[in-house]
Amino acid sequence: MVIYTVTGKVGQAGYLDIANSGDIAGKNIYVNMTNRCPCSCVFCLRQTKKMMEGNSLWLKEGEPSVDKVMDLFAPYDLSVINDLVFCGFGEPLERLHDVCEVIDRLKAKYPNLKVRLNTNGLANLIHGRDVTPELEGRFDTVSISLNAPDAEEFLALTRSKFGIQSFDAIKEFAVLAKAHVKNVVMTVVEKVMPEEKIEACRKICEELGVTLRVRPFEE
Ligand code: SF4
Repeated sequence: MVIYTVTGKVGQAGYLDIANSGDIAGKNIYVNMTNRCPCSCVFCLRQTKKMMEGNSLWLKEGEPSVDKVMDLFAPYDLSVINDLVFCGFGEPLERLHDVCEVIDRLKAKYPNLKVRLNTNGLANLIHGRDVTPELEGRFDTVSISLNAPDAEEFLALTRSKFGIQSFDAIKEFAVLAKAHVKNVVMTVVEKVMPEEKIEACRKICEELGVTLRVRPFEE
């Protein structure tokens, strides 16, 4: 499933292909273009083979081309949606170039389209350069998973292939992204971490000059 809506129900039942989503007016539309990711977070559904193969966000036929994604969007009027959100079952910026091309083509048709990126914040390590200038004019919001208040805990949770430098890298990514994107937020999930750790995350975000969003916990 490449383009979908989220119903609020947890798990697979919560994802609906855009074709089965009914009236899309006012809804967030999610785009899932890759299953690649440099992390293997302990809480990620990608971790078990069964979940990977059974999950509707697993791209069984491989990554869709930019043309294919545009074909999937073609029947819909995106002028009526809320946000277009790049996220899914992998790290969207693994396909930086293709994601940018999809946005550029969509914005040519819908100049007022609001676009959000949900990311692990590791794109600069993935690509070995500062990619944040490429976010400018494309994304209105960048939402980075902070996950933890320190580098050790971050690594233990995400098992990032880039190792202990990953935590500093996502903080740097947030600061660099601010120069190019209006709204940069970092997120943690409520209940999975004690209040004092959420406070520590809040302090980190204050120092970085970004907003902390505490996402609701879903069983
Ligand atoms: S960064 Fe996201 S997609 Fe990647 S392993 Fe973690 S939760 Fe899963």
